[in-house]
Amino acid sequence: MPAPDFPDMTDPAASFRPEANDRPTRIRVDLEAIGHNFQALQAHAGVPVMGIVKANAYGHGLVPVAAHLQAQGIGQLGVALVEEGLALRRAGVTVPVLVMGGIHAPQVSQFLACDLEVTVSSIAKLRQVEAAAESSGRKAVVHLKVDTGMERIGVHSENAGAFIEAAVSSRWCTVKGIYSHLACSDDPASPMTREQLQRFMHACRHFDRIGAPMPIRHLANSGGVLHFPETCLDMVRPGIALYGVMPDPASRATVALRPALSLVSKVVYFKVVNAGRTVSYGATWTAAADTRVVTVPIGYGDGYPRSLSSRGEVLVRGERHPIIGRVCMDQFMVDLGAGGSAYNEDEVVLIGPQGGDAISCEAVAVAAGTIPYEILTGLNARIPREYIGRASGVASAT
Ligand SMILES: *Cc1c(COP(=O)(O)O)cnc(C)c1O
Repeated sequence: MPAPDFPDMTDPAASFRPEANDRPTRIRVDLEAIGHNFQALQAHAGVPVMGIVKANAYGHGLVPVAAHLQAQGIGQLGVALVEEGLALRRAGVTVPVLVMGGIHAPQVSQFLACDLEVTVSSIAKLRQVEAAAESSGRKAVVHLKVDTGMERIGVHSENAGAFIEAAVSSRWCTVKGIYSHLACSDDPASPMTREQLQRFMHACRHFDRIGAPMPIRHLANSGGVLHFPETCLDMVRPGIALYGVMPDPASRATVALRPALSLVSKVVYFKVVNAGRTVSYGATWTAAADTRVVTVPIGYGDGYPRSLSSRGEVLVRGERHPIIGRVCMDQFMVDLGAGGSAYNEDEVVLIGPQGGDAISCEAVAVAAGTIPYEILTGLNARIPREYIGRASGVASAT
């Protein structure tokens, strides 16, 4: 038994409790911002939101985010993996949860035992779900996945007729939803989205053709909600927008969203680097003149990208300063210039506001040559999460 003062750092849940981890590097999650974004997206779409909380709620913390959304009255959550659904159930989250990934036959019984909704993406998978449901004596709640252009999982929309008929006539499956996924909705100018919508609507009309009740039709991800109101149908599935982050630099802020995540650290070392000396591995950065440099205790071992070497910026005392040299596994260096000053323990903001300025997740993604999704989901369990703006009455679920 480890002493209680030594949190188990291999257990992500332990590091989510700020009191269990005094590390000055931390992620601050504003749950109130997530609640605001949920309400704003739902009002904009005009239909219920399925809150997408896969990949540790895009780095924000699966259970605290899901519990907060449940307290805010959300009616449906979506995850990628059955393991994520199980974690929600173990934590006491009771709202309906759809697992959106493809299923593996040996896992189907876990869906049924934990009351998770299954994505059925072919007739063969439907038969696997039926077999598991029959042997456990519990009907499965399923959403049918139709492929309209992503070529990931799902029955091609032109072949959806037989698939829909098989599902509707199944004794062991209740068809709650039918859905597809948009490939290009983050770009408001892409013609692909309207083509995908047409294919999806054609497939859905098969329910009318056979006289079966229409299940919940859902298609729009964040880009769909932001740019293509006609894709909102009966329910929408925003992920990144729930966290107040735009999917792509081409996206338009048609809904007023608030970024929920800040990534902060503290100066752990201060020094003067003399002209001609180099900084960090590979000696890729050379001081042109004497300059003041601070060290910040976070690195790629936390998921802060190494591609920000000599490219990223941080805020110290309300001013922007460049990262110099390579980002190390646990630390990196920042150039304050000849006139800059900072003391040990000064706050360093990597993502979020400080003073009158702010560094957005979107800007970090551009500097790192990637997308905001990868920045957020890359921030790993070594960084403690701290929650502000928690709704009252959800403590039991977190
Ligand atoms: C991840 C995902 C979403 C959410 O996508 P965002 O771009 O983050 O809004 C919606 N639907 C499916 C099937 C997904 O895999």
